[in-house]
Amino acid sequence: MNAVFAERAASGTLFRPVDIGHPVYAAVTDPQTAFWALVDKTRVHEANRDPALLAAYGAKAGQFEQELHALRFGLKPSGVYLNPTERCNLNCTYCYLPDTQRSGGSHMPVETLLASLGKLRDYFRSVMPADRKPRAIFHGAEPLMNAPAVFEAIDAFADDFVFGLQTNGTLLDDKALDFLTSRNVSIGLSLDGPVAGITDATRRTWGGKSVHDKVLRSMEKLRGYGSWSVITTCTTENLPYLTRMVELFHAHEVPTCMLNTVRCTLSGARGVKPADGDMATALFTALDRTYELYQETGRKLMVANFANILIGILAPTAPC
Ligand code: SF4
Repeated sequence: MNAVFAERAASGTLFRPVDIGHPVYAAVTDPQTAFWALVDKTRVHEANRDPALLAAYGAKAGQFEQELHALRFGLKPSGVYLNPTERCNLNCTYCYLPDTQRSGGSHMPVETLLASLGKLRDYFRSVMPADRKPRAIFHGAEPLMNAPAVFEAIDAFADDFVFGLQTNGTLLDDKALDFLTSRNVSIGLSLDGPVAGITDATRRTWGGKSVHDKVLRSMEKLRGYGSWSVITTCTTENLPYLTRMVELFHAHEVPTCMLNTVRCTLSGARGVKPADGDMATALFTALDRTYELYQETGRKLMVANFANILIGILAPTAPC
């Protein structure tokens, strides 16, 4: 163990205790290196003097610190999100974009989009290996409100980017689906309830119409496609139904879903934000159900936001 680590251990500040709610174990961690270990919770305050723990830490800390330094300061971007329009055809309760922008905003002209991608391509070529393509994800508002520009850009830069599109799923007609799937564009949809009455509580058109069935139809058409996912934004309205959500996703052979907590950017979102404890309980119950479904059928439904948390704990530098 180097002198700095030894000094921090001697002063009792090397390991920070973390209560993980387990009857026997607590975690200790060093944020500088992301080293962590489980210890007897009755002896957690002795961690900074535990010879076995210090030896395990000393064997790994240098390597971990180098990896984390590279993660924090050495990485260059390898992907980009593009918003090709300010508009959206929906008016979700929790939207993070101002309603005036979504209803009256502008589309990015195709020339601007093509010029932007040209500059981005040149940048990525200068920082990425020649055999790797950067990712470009079209994102919201609702990118398919400006579908002609998006589709032209995908064809113009097919050799330069791996494309993705995050959409509310309501404008995915057969033509759009054929175009996107024939070019291997990864597609992300959004659905907030297992039945229309629950989805409608937070996601509707400006005129108040339900979009639940349209999204379900898109999901049905995407069954069997290799690269697609569905996001559920978790609110007070759908929290009791998260288990039914994952059952619905599994039945539709969704490869990957995300059960995201609502983002409290605007006041509408704050009105439907679940309490953290309620969110955790519902999420873990839904995760348990995905595991049961896997045991019952042998087919996995990946909950990507939870998988990312696990990867972040077990291998902090893996997400890079
Ligand atoms: S679909 Fe997305 S961008 Fe449109 S209103 Fe809903 S949250 Fe906002």
